[in-house]
Amino acid sequence: MTVGIVGAGQLGRMLALAGYPLGLDFLFLDPAEQPPAAGLAPVLRSPFDDPAALRILAGRCEVVTIDWENVPAAALRALQSDTRVSPSPAAIATAQDRVSEKRLFERLGIATTRWRAVGSRRQLDSAVRAIGLPGVLKTRRMGYDGKGQAVLRTAADLEPAWTQMGAVPLLYEELVPFDLEVSVIGVRARGGECRVYPLNQNLHAGGILRLTRAPCGNARLNRLAARQVLAVMEHLGYVGVLAIEFFVRRGRLIANEIAPRVHNSGHWTIEGAVTSQFENHLRAILGLPLGETRAVGHSAMINLIGAMPPREALLRHPGVHLHDYVKQPRPGRKLGHLTVVEVDAARRDRRARALLAELAPGIHIT
Ligand code: AMP
Repeated sequence: MTVGIVGAGQLGRMLALAGYPLGLDFLFLDPAEQPPAAGLAPVLRSPFDDPAALRILAGRCEVVTIDWENVPAAALRALQSDTRVSPSPAAIATAQDRVSEKRLFERLGIATTRWRAVGSRRQLDSAVRAIGLPGVLKTRRMGYDGKGQAVLRTAADLEPAWTQMGAVPLLYEELVPFDLEVSVIGVRARGGECRVYPLNQNLHAGGILRLTRAPCGNARLNRLAARQVLAVMEHLGYVGVLAIEFFVRRGRLIANEIAPRVHNSGHWTIEGAVTSQFENHLRAILGLPLGETRAVGHSAMINLIGAMPPREALLRHPGVHLHDYVKQPRPGRKLGHLTVVEVDAARRDRRARALLAELAPGIHIT
């Protein structure tokens, strides 16, 4: 049985690694010369919206999924007449636009930031008047890892931000003085069966995820986040893994954004949960029973960004699981990650602190 994946990045690579023990085969579509998943399965090398390549993918695969949420939704819709596409192009389209995400949160009674859509310089002025400063100006589409964002702190910041970003549709929202950032990962199968992983606590630097620790938060916060991800998945008739990122302020969850795919903050589930997010995504889209989402310890996941330390140096640390995405180094680029699983949170945090001191000396955790 072959699973088609549009995008052959590290998420596709980890999906394939999770799928081989289940007896699955994979076929990727990606325009890049040597994408991270290329060593694992054949890649149709063509643009994401090339109709001929999409037809080949649809013809050869039982189901098609994505490793990158910005694949043009129209291309995915075109696939639907020939094969199943999960998650649905409609769900992916919702998560591609920050405004439709905000509207979805509001419709489902999920607290989110105060926001305004911005399509002109005048609208930016009125959004800033309505919401105040400081705030964050973001592109509605194609933003990731903090790209396509500018923090506006004073009135003098508006003009340069507009000059730099105003060519595309934008959204302005309040800058949340959050206590911490968390994310929840849910999975919904074709038949409607759902499961939710324990909450992840995330630390970003420069808009890029550096560290995830899980499980985190008290039972109330976990219940609240689980209820929200279930509501989103149910509303969208979603099939697959979906993540929601939140700010936590004074014990309240404030939804930031949805990822309609396996998520970086869920990489710890490979070693730290009964069933990984990657395996559960495959089970969900293939209509197989879902696996348990319980954590089997206390995990810390650290992203390796910009430069890959020597393998020997990383593997010297006892219990470290290394995932090398075999990508070319570039500043700000995610090249791999490490996970450690410990028996309690205090030990896990000690390990995370020691690893961060070596790998990212500027980053401290409490
Ligand atoms: P995003 O691309 O929206 O996930 O933003 C990347 C990161 O930038 C978030 O995880 C936060 O650390 C920070 N950020 C984005 N939006 C806001 C906001 N409205 N208030 C505070 N921090 C933000």
